[in-house]
Amino acid sequence: MAVKRDYYDVLGVPRNADDAEIKRAFRRLAQRHHPDVDRGEGAELRFKELNEAYRILSDRQRRTAYDMFGHAGVDGAAAASEGFGGGFGPFGDIFDAFFGGAPAGSRRRQRVVPGADLRYDLVIEFAEAVFGVTKEIAFPTLVACPRCEGAGGEPGTEPETCPDCNGSGEQRRVAQTILGQMVNIVACPRCRGEGRIVATPCTECGGDGRVREDRTLQVTIPAGIDDGQRIALEGQGETGPRGGPSGDLYVAIKVREHAQLIRRGTELFHELPVTFPQAALGTTLSVPTVEGAEDVAVPPGVQSGHEIRLRGKGVPRLRGAGRGDLHVIVNVVVPTKLSKRERELLQELDEVSEPAVVPKGGPSVFEWLRDRLFG
Ligand SMILES: [Zn+2]
Ligand SMILES: [Zn+2]
Repeated sequence: MAVKRDYYDVLGVPRNADDAEIKRAFRRLAQRHHPDVDRGEGAELRFKELNEAYRILSDRQRRTAYDMFGHAGVDGAAAASEGFGGGFGPFGDIFDAFFGGAPAGSRRRQRVVPGADLRYDLVIEFAEAVFGVTKEIAFPTLVACPRCEGAGGEPGTEPETCPDCNGSGEQRRVAQTILGQMVNIVACPRCRGEGRIVATPCTECGGDGRVREDRTLQVTIPAGIDDGQRIALEGQGETGPRGGPSGDLYVAIKVREHAQLIRRGTELFHELPVTFPQAALGTTLSVPTVEGAEDVAVPPGVQSGHEIRLRGKGVPRLRGAGRGDLHVIVNVVVPTKLSKRERELLQELDEVSEPAVVPKGGPSVFEWLRDRLFG
């Protein structure tokens, strides 16, 4: 695949440009580089690039994905059907928006119907999401028919111009309304707007130009991907009928939960239960991390809610370097069952203990409540 230019560079705007700035830049460049205006070499490609950059950056969700993942985050969306499948050909949508209808003398390009986008739900393990993984997926799809090479007609035959619409793919319907005559332009039902019909259908695909096939793909999942995110694979959806462009494949990621770690973005949390003697005396305990168990020093006098932070033991950031942290939250657990010996020792301890006082600076349940309820 060719190296793509940065969308912000294409539009010549800074990365923090607001929506209005992006729109202004696009309008200016689109008028200059429209293929009906700019006849220079590569004008169509330049305009397509512009169109694509604007489609991504003007859409909040896609812009965020692009900012996070670069082109990989939006590759599917960039060529997604909405720009090409609306029945206008590659430039009609933009042209209509800026020049008020199709230019005089220009004929609408033949309509092609794009293939459907596909969605694949992929469940991955907690650690796979943290470190990234390559997965093989297999799914049924529609591919170009090998017999007619996607054309839909028997080999050696040519598609014919649709007699109902004379190849325009459109029909005008005149309707009488209380406001007067209304002309509706609808896709020609005979050729489905394609302008051509297959006179001698291919015996393999029946004229559709596509056949079913099970496709196998390797999907590279970046380290740090989170539950609910999608990976777009451009052109890996179903191919369109009779030579239409392929749709895209969206791999929806579902991440399995970890028994002892909770993830919030790049941060991981672990609840560490300690006994009262361990909390009072201090100890060393084993803590699960995504790299395996690790010994952690619990300081003497530790309270419930105390946080031990293991820096860089969280989830890698998708954009830029570094990782989040692992937050180990201490929970001093009061025993609910006591052996006879434990009871004796605790009773003895109770006799010599001072009344409990909330430690200064330590986690306070009262402060915690106040912050949650009134903060
Ligand atoms: Zn065929
Ligand atoms: Zn027709």
